[in-house]
Amino acid sequence: MKKLKLIGLSLFCLFTFSSIKQVQSKDYQYYWLKVSAHDKFQRSVIANTGVAIEIVKDDYVIAYGNDLQKEALEKLGWLEAASNLAFEKDFPTKDSAYHNYAELTDAITKLANENPDIVKMTSIAKTNEGRDIWALQITADHAHASDKPAAIFMGGHHAREHLSVEMPLLWAQYLVTQFRGGNPRVIGLLNSRDVHIIPVVNPDGMEYDIKDGSYKMWRKNRSRNANGTYGVDLNRNYGYQWGTGGSSSDGNNETYMGPKAFSEIESTAIKNYVDTHTNITILLSFHSFSKLILYPWGHKYAGIETANDKLVHEKMATTMAEWNGYQPQQSSELYIASGDTTDWSYGVHKIISFTFELDPANNGFGGGGFYPGPGVIDPVFQKNLEPLLYLLDYSDNPYRVLNVGIGPIKP
Ligand SMILES: [Zn+2]
Repeated sequence: MKKLKLIGLSLFCLFTFSSIKQVQSKDYQYYWLKVSAHDKFQRSVIANTGVAIEIVKDDYVIAYGNDLQKEALEKLGWLEAASNLAFEKDFPTKDSAYHNYAELTDAITKLANENPDIVKMTSIAKTNEGRDIWALQITADHAHASDKPAAIFMGGHHAREHLSVEMPLLWAQYLVTQFRGGNPRVIGLLNSRDVHIIPVVNPDGMEYDIKDGSYKMWRKNRSRNANGTYGVDLNRNYGYQWGTGGSSSDGNNETYMGPKAFSEIESTAIKNYVDTHTNITILLSFHSFSKLILYPWGHKYAGIETANDKLVHEKMATTMAEWNGYQPQQSSELYIASGDTTDWSYGVHKIISFTFELDPANNGFGGGGFYPGPGVIDPVFQKNLEPLLYLLDYSDNPYRVLNVGIGPIKP
């Protein structure tokens, strides 16, 4: 998808925008409007119709306005295009390599449409703001997918962790491209495994974080809380030992756990998806940042009680760390945090579960750890590719890593 790049907004435009907001009414239909304009005088005329000018280019502007304003611009003969899709919201220009929601949707739709024999794309829920949470199922044998061992990979629980959305997207594209290109390892895996990829669990938060082309450092989803604040921390809302430490009951806080376990559309969507795909044996949730490989428990300091389960997590984490250079450790070695994805997926389903905290190791460069810039996307994917292939490989029986002849417990 062609990306409209934000160039500097003039103070004039900002002033116009702020003065217009007050006259907007919920009764109107709103549009993004591409309007011909070649100088500040023409832009002033456009602004005087009451639209909010958001992007200024040499020969046009992108404005946000209602039906009446759209009509006025049509009368002027300057209106080039109108859309009620939010195509203007975007990453700052320097980070345009990252996918916003529309671009992500386009990319995976293309992947599914061009490869209907191996890729199935479904919406697993609609968010509060009406966005689809997309899931990709990738396997060479969809008819018998549920008979095959499965692994699930997901990103974007936290809004500002945009790198965590790029990883599952690249992983999906890699699997398809390599399968088509004849890579025997990938062909073998897609013939014998069922792969589930949910690139962004929290699209509302992700879009809010990049709204207006500047980062908002947003973490949570965009639920309206009872006290008038916004957002629940989705990685504190899962229903295993929910609310038992390391999460907040105050909606103002970054780690707000929500009013009850699985109160949120997004976490419930993941729950339902994992509950119904009973062949899943491995789960990986991408987050950023800190360069860590984490495994349960997060809600308490004690380790996993079942000895072999603990050993499998430890063995897999240390093996993967040899490839990506991350630090493997039990989650609560950082701090106690209850209600996260992996405590639930292991605690309830005994799925071998990991969280990767991606690069960078600290927030000392590139505008902060959450926004490390486009240059890291490919190298971070490359260093995590072998761990991804490894997890998928061992999804038939993760206990194989122990080399002690323990049979699979599922499927
Ligand atoms: Zn996170």
